Amino acid sequence: MQIVDAIKHAQEQLLESDSARLDAEILLCTVLRCERTRLYTYPEQNLSNKEIKSFDELVGFRAEGHPIAHLIQKKEFWSLELQVTTDTLIPRPETELLVEATLNCIPNESPYSVLELGTGTGAISIAIAYERRLANITATDIKESALQVAQLNAESHQLNNITFEKANWFDIKNIGSYDLIVSNPPYISIDDPHLHQGDVRFEPESALVSGKEGLDDLYIIITGAKKYLDTNGWLLLEHGYQQGKAIRRLLEENNFSTISTLKDYSNLDRVSIGQWIS
Ligand code: GLN
Repeated sequence: MQIVDAIKHAQEQLLESDSARLDAEILLCTVLRCERTRLYTYPEQNLSNKEIKSFDELVGFRAEGHPIAHLIQKKEFWSLELQVTTDTLIPRPETELLVEATLNCIPNESPYSVLELGTGTGAISIAIAYERRLANITATDIKESALQVAQLNAESHQLNNITFEKANWFDIKNIGSYDLIVSNPPYISIDDPHLHQGDVRFEPESALVSGKEGLDDLYIIITGAKKYLDTNGWLLLEHGYQQGKAIRRLLEENNFSTISTLKDYSNLDRVSIGQWIS
């Protein structure tokens, strides 16, 4: 079977994906260990039986709904390649907005202490550490398996300004005080029907779901953060598109100042920010 036919055949099996052709190409590149351009340069190249079998297997998993990032075990975030496993949330493009907003708070030329809660793959801390070499970052997760992935990702980008710690939110050994706290916690309601659709079904519920309104963990973080923020320190949170108002209100009730909400690329509330002036 030629490359061009294999892709066509896979596309027909991936009708439920809204990116069937791209999915097929990415999976075939994983099998052939090549760049996508090769598929277009040599469309008539014949595949070996072994290659066809591996490709069919991956396409089968994708047809069942397994996310591409799980099948190829990686995902690009902030132009950095990260290893991804089923133990972690797959980094989302909209989370780059949280990174951008965080970087706007961190000076380039002086040390700055940052705490990230619930780091998962390490995506947020790694992007920050990469852009701000003088920042001193503590990144936590409640899952040992996630921390192992995060640690490997930090190492693969030669970053040594992140310390990883196993912790449940602020229950951190030797917790300090920080110039900035950032988190993309779980924020989906347990009743949200989207949890039973598409790729998200294969991601860990612990990274997605947070009580009836999706606000349980955001509440813990907002009420707890003020104890650990230095004067003028920043709290930056990703949240659901319908949660902006509730989060701004929580920040206000907890005496944060300079409160704002940023919209994501789909023009939906996604990140809220508050400053601890005290
Ligand atoms: N943004 C993710 C989604 O909608 C949710 C991530 C999270 O809960 N932090 O699938």
